[in-house]
Amino acid sequence: MKRLIIATGNMGKLNEIKEIMNSGEIEIVSMKEAGVDVDIVEDGKTFEENALIKARAVSEACGGIVLSDDSGLEVDYLNKEPGIYSARYLGEDTPYSIKNAKILERLDGVPDEKRTGRFVCAVAAVFPDGKEIVVRETMEGRIGYEERGTNGFGYDPIFRPDGYDVSSGELPMEEKNLISHRGKAFRKMWEILSKTEEFR
Ligand code: IMP
Repeated sequence: MKRLIIATGNMGKLNEIKEIMNSGEIEIVSMKEAGVDVDIVEDGKTFEENALIKARAVSEACGGIVLSDDSGLEVDYLNKEPGIYSARYLGEDTPYSIKNAKILERLDGVPDEKRTGRFVCAVAAVFPDGKEIVVRETMEGRIGYEERGTNGFGYDPIFRPDGYDVSSGELPMEEKNLISHRGKAFRKMWEILSKTEEFR
């Protein structure tokens, strides 16, 4: 059975990816399960670069086929901040209630049509022979006026996906996965991977 290693220590993410890529024909394991323990410095300038940096580091350490993702929120009015720094915005350990309040404060008085933004997700695949594939998907929407919902995580409570009257923090998880940047990016990657000679 083919084995795919996911460069993450986050079990929630791993389970989400297992669900998306569930073909029954491949074994999906975390880097820890693959015996990899590396410290990775994400110093790329784009989501794509950071996803590749993580996947390359784990692939070098274990030699398998490795998948990795990097994601974040871009707010157009804030010159696409926090972007690749989404997790580190105002400090890695700062609660999201404070990060979200800061973004709302910086958008105070900004009209709806200028509150556009998106969640971005880049997914990278690195093969032992050096082959690399990267895809990027987004979930477009607008920044709201207050925190709403407790279903998601991070910036979900202040993000309203286009076509919805609720925040992504108010959407049930299965519904969010259908339209989310991460769901779309991993499904696209699986579509490509399943046609490669390694997975056919
Ligand atoms: P990473 O993909 O684990 O590097 O996460 C990047 C950061 O982007 C997260 O810590 C969140 O702050 C933010 N982020 C990424 N995807 C989402 C999402 O679906 N909802 C809310 N915040 C997100």
